[in-house]
Amino acid sequence: MTNILRTQNLTKTYQGKEAVNSVNMNIKQGEIYGFLGPNGAGKTTVMKMITNLVKPTYGEIEFFGEKMTERSYEMLKRMGCIIEYPVFYDKLTAKENLILHGEYMGYYDKQAMGEALELVKLTGIDNKPVKQFSLGMKQRLGIARAVMTKPELLILDEPINGLDPLGIKEMREVFRMLSQEYGMTLLISSHLLAEIEQIADTIGVIREGVLLEEVAMQTIRGGNTEYIELITNESSKAVYVLEH
Ligand code: ATP
Repeated sequence: MTNILRTQNLTKTYQGKEAVNSVNMNIKQGEIYGFLGPNGAGKTTVMKMITNLVKPTYGEIEFFGEKMTERSYEMLKRMGCIIEYPVFYDKLTAKENLILHGEYMGYYDKQAMGEALELVKLTGIDNKPVKQFSLGMKQRLGIARAVMTKPELLILDEPINGLDPLGIKEMREVFRMLSQEYGMTLLISSHLLAEIEQIADTIGVIREGVLLEEVAMQTIRGGNTEYIELITNESSKAVYVLEH
């Protein structure tokens, strides 16, 4: 598999303090990359640099083998992202929110909207005002909004945070669909290993701005020769056995 996204020595310093320190990340095309780390580890900052919201202090980002700059607008169109909670007009229906966003951004397409709503299983309730939606429904609507342009890389910052078990299950199904049916590459951050270990193909572990591990889950799910510890915080700790 080829890399869709690669970072080299990606670094961000705020007021002399390194929030992200020399991160070399490799995300393969078509995979689900779980970006794991405790609060404050630097996950959002990495995502903001990838999506051009924040300028790196140092380092490079390559997307489809091409170096990204502040003006890589065409490349950015091939990405979709939801950083933290998606925001909507509460009094408008789900559909009206998507139409408004699509028209404002200049890419409204009725068919693409219908497909996106179906994908996140909101067809049938898309005429309800968003204020009646649960957090999980809002997250899924956020995904529908982000995938209307059919991005090749979808970046989701803590999309499972705060969801109940049913919401988590539904969200995982959406991830699987996006990956398997649409061939989309997903970068999903979480501070809980249990939330992403079942769906991720690769897990990157970040702590205090440093990418400690980048592990293929296929390796982890296999044999028994080497121990690897993925620790995010005390409530989310796992020891895996690596096969060689
Ligand atoms: P969380 O899940 O809590 O958002 P995170 O892993 O996404 O955690 P970041 O939000 O990227 O972590 O933060 C990494 C570090 O950078 C933290 O110490 C944070 O306080 C700091 N930081 C982030 N944004 C800024 C900013 N705009 N100015 C100063 N410091 C910042």
